Amino acid sequence: MPELRPEIAAMPGYHSPQVDVPIRLNTNESPFPPPEAFVSEFTEALQDVSWNRYPDRTASRLRDRLAAYHGVQPEQLFVANGSNEVLQTILLAYAGPGRRVVVFEPGYQMHVQIARILGSEVIVIERNEDFTLDGAHVREVLREVQPHLVFLSSPNNPTGQCDDESMIDIIGEATDAMLVVDEAYAEFSSWSAIERALHSDRIVVSRTFSKTWSLAALRLGYLVGSSDVIDHLWTAVLPYHLDSMKQIAGELALKFTDDMNERVSLIVSERERVQTALIELDVDVSPSSANFVLFKTRRDADFMWSALLDHGVLVRNCSSWPRLEGWLRLTIGTEDENNAFLAGLQSALEKE
Ligand SMILES: *Cc1c(COP(=O)(O)O)cnc(C)c1O
Repeated sequence: MPELRPEIAAMPGYHSPQVDVPIRLNTNESPFPPPEAFVSEFTEALQDVSWNRYPDRTASRLRDRLAAYHGVQPEQLFVANGSNEVLQTILLAYAGPGRRVVVFEPGYQMHVQIARILGSEVIVIERNEDFTLDGAHVREVLREVQPHLVFLSSPNNPTGQCDDESMIDIIGEATDAMLVVDEAYAEFSSWSAIERALHSDRIVVSRTFSKTWSLAALRLGYLVGSSDVIDHLWTAVLPYHLDSMKQIAGELALKFTDDMNERVSLIVSERERVQTALIELDVDVSPSSANFVLFKTRRDADFMWSALLDHGVLVRNCSSWPRLEGWLRLTIGTEDENNAFLAGLQSALEKE
Protein backbone atom coordinates (compact mmCIF):
# COMPACT_ATOMS: atom_id res chain seq x y z
CA MET A 1 0.00 0.00 0.00
CA PRO A 2 1.39 3.46 -0.86
CA GLU A 3 2.39 5.49 2.18
CA LEU A 4 -0.28 7.88 3.46
CA ARG A 5 0.57 11.51 4.12
CA PRO A 6 1.39 11.68 7.85
CA GLU A 7 -1.35 14.30 8.42
CA ILE A 8 -3.98 11.80 7.24
CA ALA A 9 -2.47 8.79 9.00
CA ALA A 10 -2.67 10.67 12.32
CA MET A 11 -6.41 11.38 11.92
CA PRO A 12 -8.96 9.53 14.02
CA GLY A 13 -11.68 10.33 11.43
CA TYR A 14 -15.13 11.81 12.03
CA HIS A 15 -17.28 9.69 14.34
CA SER A 16 -20.92 10.47 14.88
CA PRO A 17 -22.55 7.06 15.24
CA GLN A 18 -25.70 6.97 13.08
CA VAL A 19 -27.48 4.09 14.80
CA ASP A 20 -30.95 3.16 13.63
CA VAL A 21 -33.16 4.84 16.20
CA PRO A 22 -36.55 6.58 16.05
CA ILE A 23 -35.48 9.93 17.57
CA ARG A 24 -32.20 11.38 16.29
CA LEU A 25 -31.07 14.41 18.24
CA ASN A 26 -27.32 14.15 17.68
CA THR A 27 -26.22 16.28 14.71
CA ASN A 28 -27.89 19.68 15.22
CA GLU A 29 -30.16 19.45 12.19
CA SER A 30 -33.58 21.09 12.13
CA PRO A 31 -36.36 18.74 13.26
CA PHE A 32 -38.63 20.32 10.62
CA PRO A 33 -38.55 19.65 6.88
CA PRO A 34 -38.40 22.71 4.59
CA PRO A 35 -41.77 24.12 3.37
CA GLU A 36 -43.61 21.90 0.88
CA ALA A 37 -43.71 24.79 -1.59
CA PHE A 38 -39.91 24.89 -1.57
CA VAL A 39 -39.71 21.22 -2.54
CA SER A 40 -42.28 21.52 -5.33
CA GLU A 41 -40.77 24.72 -6.77
CA PHE A 42 -37.35 23.10 -6.70
CA THR A 43 -38.44 19.95 -8.55
CA GLU A 44 -40.20 22.15 -11.09
CA ALA A 45 -37.09 24.29 -11.61
CA LEU A 46 -34.97 21.21 -12.34
CA GLN A 47 -36.78 20.96 -15.71
CA ASP A 48 -34.84 24.02 -16.86
CA VAL A 49 -31.31 22.82 -16.02
CA SER A 50 -28.96 22.63 -19.02
CA TRP A 51 -27.68 19.21 -18.08
CA ASN A 52 -24.99 19.02 -20.76
CA ARG A 53 -23.38 22.29 -19.60
CA TYR A 54 -21.16 23.06 -16.63
CA PRO A 55 -22.85 25.12 -13.91
CA ASP A 56 -22.43 28.89 -13.58
CA ARG A 57 -18.91 28.86 -12.18
CA THR A 58 -19.39 31.80 -9.81
CA ALA A 59 -23.02 31.02 -8.89
CA SER A 60 -23.93 34.60 -9.78
CA ARG A 61 -27.71 34.34 -9.35
CA LEU A 62 -27.43 32.64 -6.00
CA ARG A 63 -24.91 35.25 -4.86
CA ASP A 64 -27.22 38.06 -6.06
CA ARG A 65 -30.04 36.63 -3.94
CA LEU A 66 -27.81 36.16 -0.92
CA ALA A 67 -26.44 39.68 -1.36
CA ALA A 68 -29.97 41.09 -1.29
CA TYR A 69 -30.81 38.99 1.77
CA HIS A 70 -27.83 40.34 3.72
CA GLY A 71 -27.72 43.84 2.20
CA VAL A 72 -24.18 43.32 0.86
CA GLN A 73 -22.55 43.24 -2.59
CA PRO A 74 -22.38 39.93 -4.53
CA GLU A 75 -18.57 40.43 -4.71
CA GLN A 76 -18.52 40.11 -0.93
CA LEU A 77 -19.88 36.54 -1.06
CA PHE A 78 -18.31 33.15 -1.66
CA VAL A 79 -20.41 29.95 -1.83
CA ALA A 80 -19.46 26.29 -1.47
CA ASN A 81 -20.66 22.79 -0.58
CA GLY A 82 -21.58 23.32 3.04
CA SER A 83 -19.76 25.67 5.35
CA ASN A 84 -17.19 22.92 5.88
CA GLU A 85 -16.02 23.43 2.29
CA VAL A 86 -16.12 27.17 2.85
CA LEU A 87 -13.81 26.70 5.84
CA GLN A 88 -11.56 24.34 3.88
CA THR A 89 -11.24 26.91 1.11
CA ILE A 90 -10.29 29.71 3.48
CA LEU A 91 -7.70 27.39 5.05
CA LEU A 92 -6.37 26.49 1.58
CA ALA A 93 -5.87 30.19 0.92
CA TYR A 94 -4.53 31.34 4.29
CA ALA A 95 -3.21 28.31 6.22
CA GLY A 96 -1.43 25.04 5.28
CA PRO A 97 2.18 23.87 5.77
CA GLY A 98 4.34 26.19 7.86
CA ARG A 99 1.32 28.20 9.05
CA ARG A 100 -0.33 28.38 12.46
CA VAL A 101 -4.06 28.12 13.17
CA VAL A 102 -5.54 28.98 16.58
CA VAL A 103 -8.74 27.38 17.91
CA PHE A 104 -10.53 27.73 21.26
CA GLU A 105 -11.49 24.55 23.09
CA PRO A 106 -14.03 23.11 23.63
CA GLY A 107 -14.92 24.00 20.06
CA TYR A 108 -15.88 22.65 16.65
CA GLN A 109 -13.61 19.72 15.90
CA MET A 110 -13.77 20.14 12.10
CA HIS A 111 -11.78 23.38 12.39
CA VAL A 112 -8.92 21.37 13.88
CA GLN A 113 -9.34 18.46 11.52
CA ILE A 114 -9.39 20.41 8.24
CA ALA A 115 -6.50 22.63 9.37
CA ARG A 116 -4.38 19.57 10.22
CA ILE A 117 -5.25 17.68 7.03
CA LEU A 118 -3.98 20.68 5.09
CA GLY A 119 -0.72 20.53 7.05
CA SER A 120 -1.21 23.58 9.29
CA GLU A 121 0.00 23.63 12.87
CA VAL A 122 -2.95 23.89 15.28
CA ILE A 123 -2.59 25.76 18.58
CA VAL A 124 -5.33 25.35 21.18
CA ILE A 125 -6.35 28.08 23.62
CA GLU A 126 -8.37 26.67 26.50
CA ARG A 127 -11.68 28.19 27.48
CA ASN A 128 -12.49 28.88 31.15
CA GLU A 129 -14.20 26.29 33.35
CA ASP A 130 -17.60 27.80 32.38
CA PHE A 131 -16.61 27.72 28.65
CA THR A 132 -16.22 31.51 28.37
CA LEU A 133 -13.00 33.11 27.08
CA ASP A 134 -10.49 35.01 29.20
CA GLY A 135 -9.67 38.07 27.07
CA ALA A 136 -6.32 38.78 28.75
CA HIS A 137 -5.18 35.18 28.34
CA VAL A 138 -6.31 35.09 24.69
CA ARG A 139 -4.41 38.32 23.98
CA GLU A 140 -1.25 37.01 25.61
CA VAL A 141 -1.22 33.66 23.77
CA LEU A 142 -2.06 35.23 20.40
CA ARG A 143 0.78 37.76 20.74
CA GLU A 144 3.18 34.94 21.42
CA VAL A 145 1.94 32.52 18.72
CA GLN A 146 1.34 35.10 15.94
CA PRO A 147 -1.08 32.81 14.08
CA HIS A 148 -2.00 33.13 10.41
CA LEU A 149 -5.62 32.24 11.05
CA VAL A 150 -7.95 32.17 14.08
CA PHE A 151 -11.32 30.40 14.34
CA LEU A 152 -14.07 31.77 16.57
CA SER A 153 -17.52 30.14 16.53
CA SER A 154 -20.36 32.18 17.88
CA PRO A 155 -22.60 30.59 19.01
CA ASN A 156 -20.00 27.95 19.80
CA ASN A 157 -20.51 24.26 19.08
CA PRO A 158 -20.68 22.16 21.30
CA THR A 159 -21.13 24.57 24.23
CA GLY A 160 -23.97 26.58 22.64
CA GLN A 161 -22.68 29.81 24.15
CA CYS A 162 -22.10 33.13 22.38
CA ASP A 163 -18.72 34.67 23.07
CA ASP A 164 -18.60 38.35 23.89
CA GLU A 165 -18.41 40.45 20.73
CA SER A 166 -15.40 42.27 22.18
CA MET A 167 -13.35 39.11 21.49
CA ILE A 168 -13.22 40.22 17.85
CA ASP A 169 -11.38 43.39 18.80
CA ILE A 170 -9.09 41.55 21.19
CA ILE A 171 -8.11 39.05 18.49
CA GLY A 172 -7.75 41.82 15.88
CA GLU A 173 -5.47 43.90 18.11
CA ALA A 174 -3.25 40.99 19.14
CA THR A 175 -2.56 39.51 15.68
CA ASP A 176 -2.49 40.12 11.93
CA ALA A 177 -4.28 36.81 11.42
CA MET A 178 -7.34 36.12 9.31
CA LEU A 179 -10.21 35.79 11.80
CA VAL A 180 -12.85 33.30 10.67
CA VAL A 181 -16.10 33.79 12.59
CA ASP A 182 -18.10 30.58 12.15
CA GLU A 183 -21.76 31.60 12.42
CA ALA A 184 -23.38 28.22 11.67
CA TYR A 185 -26.06 29.08 14.27
CA ALA A 186 -26.25 32.81 13.52
CA GLU A 187 -30.05 32.91 13.30
CA PHE A 188 -30.13 32.10 17.03
CA SER A 189 -27.44 34.59 17.99
CA SER A 190 -27.66 38.04 19.53
CA TRP A 191 -24.86 39.42 17.33
CA SER A 192 -23.13 38.86 14.00
CA ALA A 193 -19.69 39.87 12.70
CA ILE A 194 -20.95 40.42 9.15
CA GLU A 195 -20.86 44.23 9.36
CA ARG A 196 -17.23 44.12 10.53
CA ALA A 197 -16.29 41.58 7.87
CA LEU A 198 -17.48 43.95 5.14
CA HIS A 199 -15.03 46.60 6.28
CA SER A 200 -11.99 44.47 6.99
CA ASP A 201 -9.57 42.29 5.02
CA ARG A 202 -8.94 40.27 8.17
CA ILE A 203 -12.42 39.18 9.24
CA VAL A 204 -14.68 36.74 7.39
CA VAL A 205 -17.98 35.16 8.45
CA SER A 206 -19.16 31.68 7.43
CA ARG A 207 -22.81 30.64 7.32
CA THR A 208 -24.72 27.49 6.35
CA PHE A 209 -28.09 26.28 5.08
CA SER A 210 -27.66 23.05 7.07
CA LYS A 211 -29.06 24.02 10.44
CA THR A 212 -31.73 26.74 10.58
CA TRP A 213 -32.70 26.47 6.91
CA SER A 214 -33.72 22.80 7.29
CA LEU A 215 -31.44 21.89 4.37
CA ALA A 216 -28.67 19.71 5.76
CA ALA A 217 -29.10 17.31 2.82
CA LEU A 218 -28.32 20.12 0.38
CA ARG A 219 -24.73 20.84 1.52
CA LEU A 220 -24.67 24.59 0.93
CA GLY A 221 -22.75 27.22 2.83
CA TYR A 222 -21.30 30.67 2.18
CA LEU A 223 -18.85 33.24 3.41
CA VAL A 224 -19.10 37.02 3.76
CA GLY A 225 -15.93 39.06 3.53
CA SER A 226 -14.17 41.85 1.65
CA SER A 227 -14.15 41.46 -2.14
CA ASP A 228 -10.34 41.11 -2.14
CA VAL A 229 -10.46 38.16 0.25
CA ILE A 230 -13.35 36.60 -1.69
CA ASP A 231 -11.30 36.86 -4.93
CA HIS A 232 -8.57 34.72 -3.38
CA LEU A 233 -11.10 32.06 -2.41
CA TRP A 234 -12.29 31.73 -6.01
CA THR A 235 -8.65 31.07 -6.93
CA ALA A 236 -8.23 28.39 -4.25
CA VAL A 237 -11.43 26.41 -4.86
CA LEU A 238 -11.93 23.83 -7.64
CA PRO A 239 -13.59 25.15 -10.81
CA TYR A 240 -17.33 24.41 -11.07
CA HIS A 241 -17.38 23.14 -7.49
CA LEU A 242 -21.02 24.12 -6.91
CA ASP A 243 -23.50 22.19 -9.04
CA SER A 244 -26.50 23.77 -10.80
CA MET A 245 -29.09 22.01 -8.64
CA LYS A 246 -27.60 23.39 -5.47
CA GLN A 247 -27.46 26.91 -6.88
CA ILE A 248 -31.15 26.71 -7.79
CA ALA A 249 -32.11 25.27 -4.40
CA GLY A 250 -30.24 28.03 -2.57
CA GLU A 251 -31.95 30.75 -4.61
CA LEU A 252 -35.36 29.25 -3.90
CA ALA A 253 -34.71 28.70 -0.20
CA LEU A 254 -34.22 32.43 0.29
CA LYS A 255 -37.84 33.00 -0.80
CA PHE A 256 -38.93 31.18 2.36
CA THR A 257 -37.23 33.38 4.94
CA ASP A 258 -40.45 33.86 6.94
CA ASP A 259 -40.93 30.10 7.28
CA MET A 260 -37.33 29.79 8.44
CA ASN A 261 -37.76 32.51 11.05
CA GLU A 262 -40.91 30.78 12.30
CA ARG A 263 -38.97 27.53 12.73
CA VAL A 264 -36.25 29.38 14.62
CA SER A 265 -38.75 30.78 17.15
CA LEU A 266 -40.33 27.35 17.63
CA ILE A 267 -36.92 25.84 18.33
CA VAL A 268 -35.96 28.67 20.69
CA SER A 269 -39.11 28.23 22.79
CA GLU A 270 -38.58 24.45 22.93
CA ARG A 271 -34.95 25.03 23.90
CA GLU A 272 -36.00 27.26 26.79
CA ARG A 273 -38.52 24.67 27.95
CA VAL A 274 -35.96 21.84 27.80
CA GLN A 275 -33.30 23.91 29.59
CA THR A 276 -35.72 24.71 32.41
CA ALA A 277 -36.73 21.06 32.71
CA LEU A 278 -33.07 19.97 32.84
CA ILE A 279 -32.27 22.47 35.59
CA GLU A 280 -35.27 21.21 37.57
CA LEU A 281 -33.81 17.70 37.27
CA ASP A 282 -30.59 19.05 38.78
CA VAL A 283 -28.68 18.64 35.51
CA ASP A 284 -25.80 21.03 34.64
CA VAL A 285 -26.58 23.03 31.51
CA SER A 286 -24.31 25.21 29.37
CA PRO A 287 -26.57 28.22 28.58
CA SER A 288 -27.42 27.86 24.90
CA SER A 289 -27.90 30.46 22.17
CA ALA A 290 -28.25 27.77 19.50
CA ASN A 291 -30.49 24.84 18.52
CA PHE A 292 -28.80 22.41 20.91
CA VAL A 293 -28.00 22.10 24.61
CA LEU A 294 -24.84 20.74 26.22
CA PHE A 295 -25.64 19.09 29.54
CA LYS A 296 -24.03 16.99 32.26
CA THR A 297 -25.86 14.71 34.70
CA ARG A 298 -24.66 13.17 37.94
CA ARG A 299 -24.57 9.81 36.13
CA ASP A 300 -21.71 8.62 33.95
CA ALA A 301 -22.00 9.97 30.36
CA ASP A 302 -21.65 6.56 28.65
CA PHE A 303 -24.36 5.13 30.94
CA MET A 304 -26.66 8.04 30.19
CA TRP A 305 -26.02 7.87 26.42
CA SER A 306 -26.92 4.14 26.34
CA ALA A 307 -29.92 4.58 28.63
CA LEU A 308 -31.31 7.27 26.31
CA LEU A 309 -30.66 5.01 23.32
CA ASP A 310 -32.70 2.28 25.06
CA HIS A 311 -35.51 4.86 25.12
CA GLY A 312 -35.12 5.36 21.37
CA VAL A 313 -33.32 8.72 21.69
CA LEU A 314 -29.90 9.32 20.16
CA VAL A 315 -27.86 12.26 21.53
CA ARG A 316 -24.19 13.13 21.00
CA ASN A 317 -21.78 11.75 23.57
CA CYS A 318 -19.10 14.45 23.92
CA SER A 319 -17.50 12.88 26.97
CA SER A 320 -14.31 11.81 25.18
CA TRP A 321 -13.77 15.26 23.61
CA PRO A 322 -11.18 17.64 25.05
CA ARG A 323 -12.41 19.21 28.32
CA LEU A 324 -15.90 17.64 28.12
CA GLU A 325 -15.80 14.60 30.37
CA GLY A 326 -19.37 13.80 31.48
CA TRP A 327 -21.06 16.09 28.93
CA LEU A 328 -23.68 15.14 26.32
CA ARG A 329 -25.19 17.31 23.58
CA LEU A 330 -28.88 17.33 22.75
CA THR A 331 -30.17 18.79 19.48
CA ILE A 332 -33.54 20.43 20.11
CA GLY A 333 -36.22 18.43 18.29
CA THR A 334 -40.00 18.67 17.98
CA GLU A 335 -42.06 18.97 21.15
CA ASP A 336 -42.77 15.19 21.13
CA GLU A 337 -39.13 14.34 20.56
CA ASN A 338 -38.00 16.60 23.39
CA ASN A 339 -40.61 15.06 25.70
CA ALA A 340 -39.33 11.59 24.84
CA PHE A 341 -35.80 12.77 25.65
CA LEU A 342 -36.86 14.26 29.00
CA ALA A 343 -38.80 11.12 29.95
CA GLY A 344 -35.83 8.91 29.03
CA LEU A 345 -33.44 11.12 30.99
CA GLN A 346 -35.62 11.19 34.06
CA SER A 347 -36.01 7.41 34.12
CA ALA A 348 -32.24 6.94 33.60
CA LEU A 349 -31.53 9.30 36.51
CA GLU A 350 -33.85 7.25 38.74
CA LYS A 351 -32.35 3.89 37.69
CA GLU A 352 -30.39 2.03 40.37
C1 LIG B 1 -22.73 22.19 11.70
C2 LIG B 1 -21.59 23.14 11.74
C3 LIG B 1 -20.90 23.48 10.57
C4 LIG B 1 -21.09 22.67 9.31
O1 LIG B 1 -21.95 23.14 8.46
P1 LIG B 1 -22.14 22.53 7.01
O2 LIG B 1 -22.60 23.72 6.29
O3 LIG B 1 -23.16 21.47 7.14
O4 LIG B 1 -20.83 22.01 6.49
C5 LIG B 1 -19.91 24.44 10.62
N1 LIG B 1 -19.58 25.01 11.80
C6 LIG B 1 -20.18 24.69 12.94
C7 LIG B 1 -19.76 25.35 14.21
C8 LIG B 1 -21.20 23.74 12.96
O5 LIG B 1 -21.77 23.38 14.11
